[in-house]
Amino acid sequence: MNRRSFIAYTGVLSSTVLIGQTEEFNETTSRIRASSVVFSLLDKLNAVQDRVGYVQFNLISFDQMLKEAAYCNKPLTPSEIGYIETIFYGNPKRYGFYGERTVPTLTAVTNKSNICYINKSGHSLLKGAAMEKYTTIKKLMGDDVILTSGIRAPVKQLHLFVKKMVCEGGDLRLASTSIAPPGFTYHSIGDFDIGKAGFGQYNFTEKFQETDVFKKLYDHGYITIRYTTNNPYGVRYEPWHIKVTGGNETA
Ligand SMILES: [Zn+2]
Repeated sequence: MNRRSFIAYTGVLSSTVLIGQTEEFNETTSRIRASSVVFSLLDKLNAVQDRVGYVQFNLISFDQMLKEAAYCNKPLTPSEIGYIETIFYGNPKRYGFYGERTVPTLTAVTNKSNICYINKSGHSLLKGAAMEKYTTIKKLMGDDVILTSGIRAPVKQLHLFVKKMVCEGGDLRLASTSIAPPGFTYHSIGDFDIGKAGFGQYNFTEKFQETDVFKKLYDHGYITIRYTTNNPYGVRYEPWHIKVTGGNETA
C-alpha cells in the first residue's frame, strides 16, 4: 500500500469513533495482508474462468474450482483457502453488510437439472419461480430486455467480490456496498438482473431506471426490487435486480 492510500484509509478509520488506535493499526495491517491475498486469488480465479468458460464458471462448485486451479498450475494456498472461508463463514456485519445468508456451505454443489441456460445471455436461471418470472418479463418486453446476470454459485460470487475488493484496495466495507459477499447473495437462490438490450454498462448504473424497459416493467408491477433505496442490507440501490425468492426485508 502506498503512503497516499494509507493516509486515505486511516482518514476513513479515524471517522469511525468505535475503532481505537490499536485496533486501527491491526485493521490496517490485516488489510495490507488481505490485499496481497485478494490479488493472488483474483489471478487464480481468472485462470479458472478462462479454463472452464464464462457460462460454466457461474455454476462451478468450490471443490471443482480447486481442481481446475491446480490444472492451471495455480493451486490455491492454505492461506488463500483460509481467507475465502473467513469471508464465507464470517459475520459480514463486522464490515457493514447486513444481508441474510443464502448458502449454508462453501462447498454447495448446484444441481444442473434445476438450471436452465438462457440462450445467448451467458447466464442460467433456476427452474421454477425464477424462470417463470423471467418468461413473464420476456413476454411483456420481447427483445428489448436481456438477462445480465442469473444464478451464481459461491465461487462466481467470490470472483465478483474479489474483483471489487481489488478495485477498492482490499477494503471489505467498500466492496460489500456494491457486491454481496459469497454466501450472502440472492443470486445463488433465484434472483437475477435484467437490462435493456444495447445499453451496455449503463444497465448497471442508475441510468437504467430512466429506460423504457425499467418503466414498463415497474408500471406493470412485474418487478419487485430487492435492493430499494435505503435498503437494510448496506447495499447500493439496484433497479436492475429482480427479486424472486423470499426474504425478510421491509420493502
Ligand atoms: Zn443482482
